[in-house]
This record gives sequence, C-alpha cells and structure tokens, in this order.
Amino acid sequence: MEKIIVVGAGLSGATIARLFAEKGDFVTVIDKRNTIGGNVYDEKDKNGILVQPYGPHIFHTNEKEVYEFLSQYTEWFKYEHKVLAYIKGKYVPVPFNLTSLKTLFPEDKAERIKKVLSDEIGYGKKTPILSLKKHEKAEIRAFADFVYKNVFEYYTKKQWNLKPEELGETVMNRVPVYVSREDRYFTDEYQYQPREGFTHMVENILRHPNVTLKLGQDAMQDITLADGKIYLNGVEFDGKVIYTGCIDELFDYKYGVLPYRSLKFKFKTKKTSSYQPSAVVNYTTNKPFTRISEFTKFTCQPQEKTVICKEYSKKFKKGKNIPYYPIPIQKNYDHYDKYLSEAVKYPNLYLLGRLANYKYINMDVAVKNAIELFNKITNE
Ligand code: FAD
Ligand code: UDP
Repeated sequence: MEKIIVVGAGLSGATIARLFAEKGDFVTVIDKRNTIGGNVYDEKDKNGILVQPYGPHIFHTNEKEVYEFLSQYTEWFKYEHKVLAYIKGKYVPVPFNLTSLKTLFPEDKAERIKKVLSDEIGYGKKTPILSLKKHEKAEIRAFADFVYKNVFEYYTKKQWNLKPEELGETVMNRVPVYVSREDRYFTDEYQYQPREGFTHMVENILRHPNVTLKLGQDAMQDITLADGKIYLNGVEFDGKVIYTGCIDELFDYKYGVLPYRSLKFKFKTKKTSSYQPSAVVNYTTNKPFTRISEFTKFTCQPQEKTVICKEYSKKFKKGKNIPYYPIPIQKNYDHYDKYLSEAVKYPNLYLLGRLANYKYINMDVAVKNAIELFNKITNE
C-alpha cells in the first residue's frame, strides 16, 4: 500500500487517482479550485441549465479503452457535434466541405472546383489546409487560399495570435477540408456526451473509499522539492506525487513563465429555445470573439430558455487569468524542456496532463495518458 498525492482534480488527476485507489493505495487529490473536473467542470445555472464555465466540451474518441473506462462512471447520450462558420453573411459547415463550397461559390464554379478536388484528392477524402495551399494545380491553390482566408487565418490570429503556418500541421490538421458532404466536426467512433454532465462523471470517478479529496488548496503551499526529494510540510514524503498543474509553477518559475493562451467567456441567457442554427458557430472573418457556443444544444436538456457563451482568446498573465492552452510551437517546447530537465531529477515525481506535459490534448488523450502512466508506474 502506497501513499499517492495527485495534484489536480481534472480528468487526468481523477483518472489516475481512481486507478491507484482500486489497486489499494491511499490517494490524496488536491485542487486549488473549489470544484472538481478541472476545465471540464459543469454546473446548473439559476434556470437549471447545465453550463460549462471553462468552455464548451464535447467528448469524442477512437480509443475503446478510454470509452469503456469512462462508461463505468456515466451514462451517455449519442451526440454528433456540428459546427457552422459565419462567412459572407451565410452559415456554412466547418470543416469546410462540399456544402460550404456550394453555399459560397456560384454554381458553375462550385461544380468545377468539386470536380478538380475529386480528381486530385479523391471524393470522400479529407485534406489538411496547409498542404492544399501548396497543391501543384493552380485552381486548387486558389480554392485553398479562399478557405485559408475565410476559415483559418483570422480565427487562428484571434485564438493564438499566430499564423496557421507558425502552428504547423498538428494543430491545423484538427480541422481538415472534406471532399464530401461530411458535416460532423469529429469522425471518431465514439461520440457521446455524459448524460448528467462532466462534473457528475468526475464525481463518480473520484468516489472511492481510498480517495481523499482536498479542494480549495494550493498543493504548492505544502509541497517542496529539493535535491531529488519531495517534502510535505517540511517532512520528507516517501510516496509518489502525480502533478497535473503547470510545470513552471512547480519549479517556482526559475526559467520564467511558460506562455499560454487564456480565455474570457461572456455568458448570456436568452429567452428562446434556440439561439443559433448549430451548437457552435465560429466567427472566422469578423467579430472579436472566436465562437459562440449554445450549451442546451449539446447537453441533452431541451429548455424554454437557452444559454450562449462568446469566447475571447487572451494572452495569459500569471495570477490574472487561467492558463488554458499551451502554445504548441518549438520555442515553447524548448522552454518547457528546461523545466523537464529539473523534473527528471525527482524519481517520485510524475508529470501528467495538459499543463504539466505542456501538450494541446483532448479529454480522451488526457484519460489515455493517465491510464498509461498508471500502467508504467505499477510495472516499474
Ligand atoms: P485541467 O482540466 O486543466 O486540470 C488541472 C487541474 O489542476 C485544475 O483543476 C487546476 O486547478 C489544478 N491545479 C493546478 N495547479 C495546482 C496546484 N498547485 N495545486 C492544486 N491544484 C492545482 N477536449 C475535448 O476532448 N473536447 C472538447 O470539446 C474540448 N474543449 C475544450 C475547450 C476549452 C476551452 C479548453 C481549454 C479545453 C478543451 N478540451 C477539450 C481539452 C480538455 O479540457 C483537456 O484535455 C482536459 O480537461 C485536460 O485535463 P487535465 O486534468 O489535464 O487538466
Ligand atoms: N481553426 C480555424 N477556424 C475554425 C476552426 C479551427 O482557424 O473555424 C483553427 C484554429 O487555429 C484552432 C485550430 O484550428 O485553434 C484547432 O481547432 P479546434 O476546433 O480543434 O480547437 P479547440 O477549440 O478544440 O481547441
């Protein structure tokens, strides 16, 4: 039986805490927020509508193991996410597809582009925007430039303050261009939302006699690191610490603050059952916000009223706002590596999750990484 401290009660922390608890270890989960779930936390507002204060979350995965793990803690409802972009006064599907093409181009031109895309890329195929832009056929490059300008350029500037090329393919490939009428945002095998919300699911994950939960507590007040050893309130700790917070905070920012993007959300209740034509509308060519999400459309709760949220991307300022997105560019990975070279000096310290690993990962990858880390530790 071992003592395990998990810093962070987000999906990463909750998953690994549960696995250690089931193995018979005593696990203390500490979170500085007063809530569990990290950024997937949801709650009912004054009208009883489930909202997600840290931004819209849609579950999707191709990982059977992840789906089966989470299915122990929630019932699901089938939900396939659709997103529209508001371009030139029209709502068109994103990822950009043949319907978007037909809506935005004159009929004969749309037919011609469809034919050349089908011949060159293949009907039913998807393609990354950055490679489409470099295609040998001028007609395809002209089409790609249109999509780049109207879907990616301004949105990416707002979201990251970077150009799509600076972010590279790993980020840009998340949203391809479809040579078909595929209008789902994700094509993963498992696409479900937790019937009673994410907080309810995480509550169930953490509900175990071997798990002690401490909320509203900054773990770094109690934990110190020195010379390869971990101290808890000044006493050497002989268990393991799984850390899911920011790595720079763990080492007292000795190499400076790592860059992140932060977000500001503006919520509004609307006296209508439906505010917009899809759950999320991306504003890719105008408006200062990136997107508007309408929670009632993806949380299984038909209502008389609805709640929308406008999302503004901001520079992260330590102590002022929340570090939501690691910025996935080489310069920042190099910066992160300096901290990583400190972390490896601590054999009982393990880094996990979006912040500690400085990775732009989805929920399913957070769960998968937690399962994998647990397996690695227990086979050590
Ligand atoms: P987090 O959720 O950030 O949890 C880390 C926790 O650690 C926090 O609760 C924090 O308070 C706590 N903590 C940090 N430092 C300390 C400390 N010193 N002491 C105590 N506690 C500490 N993924 C999808 O699959 N689908 C989506 O639709 C989707 N939408 C997203 C939308 C937004 C706006 C964002 C930001 C992310 C989205 N994601 C989505 C990604 C998803 O949120 C993450 O993959 C997942 O939540 C990562 O979980 P985590 O536990 O690693 O991190
Ligand atoms: N993106 C874009 N326009 C869109 C949708 C996405 O430019 O309409 C770009 C943008 O850079 C974004 C990235 O593609 O950050 C990934 O989009 P995704 O929806 O996967 O991001 P998430 O909101 O899940 O972080």
